[in-house]
Amino acid sequence: MNRVGFVYHSDYLLHAAPFDHPESPSRLLAIVEHLSSNGIADRMIPIEPVYPGESDILRVHDPEYLRKLEAACRRGDTTLDAEDTYLCRNSYTIALLSAGGAIAGAEAVATGMVRRAFCAVRPPGHHADRHTGMGFCLLNNVAVAARYLQAKHGISRVFIVDWDVHHGNGTQSIFLEDPSVFFFSIHEHPSFLYPGTGRRWETGKGAGEGTTINAPMSPGTGDEEYRLAFEQMLQPAVERFRPEIIMISAGFDAHREDPLADIEVTTEGYRFMTRFVCELAERHCGGKVVSVLEGGYEIPSLVASVAIHVQELLGT
Ligand SMILES: [Zn+2]
Repeated sequence: MNRVGFVYHSDYLLHAAPFDHPESPSRLLAIVEHLSSNGIADRMIPIEPVYPGESDILRVHDPEYLRKLEAACRRGDTTLDAEDTYLCRNSYTIALLSAGGAIAGAEAVATGMVRRAFCAVRPPGHHADRHTGMGFCLLNNVAVAARYLQAKHGISRVFIVDWDVHHGNGTQSIFLEDPSVFFFSIHEHPSFLYPGTGRRWETGKGAGEGTTINAPMSPGTGDEEYRLAFEQMLQPAVERFRPEIIMISAGFDAHREDPLADIEVTTEGYRFMTRFVCELAERHCGGKVVSVLEGGYEIPSLVASVAIHVQELLGT
């Protein structure tokens, strides 16, 4: 059994919409209760998230955006720019702790304290770009952790696999021109789903040309098509890039039961995807995997998929 870190803090429940919203604290509560009641949490190493220093956040986000976000929360604004991205008075602080959770997981893996980590954090992050929060995301947790690994641990090549059903437009834009961070996203085709980016021809820019891959999937596709994309697109990319660590933007909203999209991945599909990424990590980067929660909005399929994901990280 692998040593797997579990990053969680009950303060993550304090980011809550003042109205009905699919990205609710109950998602995380259900995950934690399910992992505990099934004895899975007992087999993991608890890791406390820490508040990041401002410099950790500023490696990714503009200071003007941070100040704007902080001020909006202090004023009691209930949304940020687009109406789907809600705020409450705690949101700025909890967004920092969410990014800090991804950092804590990455730190534990980089130092060898654990082999892998699952970061049960919220708000999610992959739609947030340098200047803007959107799509329920305020700070880009995975990007902040990737930059932390590069700055603090001298890691030169980070590979990010984003299997949330929505395109990780924020992460893509942050690393678009950066050849040191490879971004692979598999998602429902942008003609049919938010945020409307992530087409096949978006492959990076400038020095980063070739270190972005998008695999847009038609509505109705499922496990078999995902398997082919992993074998034909993800595997050669990892083999070519030779990462030192693999991060996962682990959304579970491509599940067939999820109401926000029309992809038909099953719970077993997440077993395959997790195992596939872990095997790539074994071959190329000493097994190092840092998984960070993104979306997933139908509670029963979310908790079942996370449980299988974590069991595969444990290797049991
Ligand atoms: Zn999503």
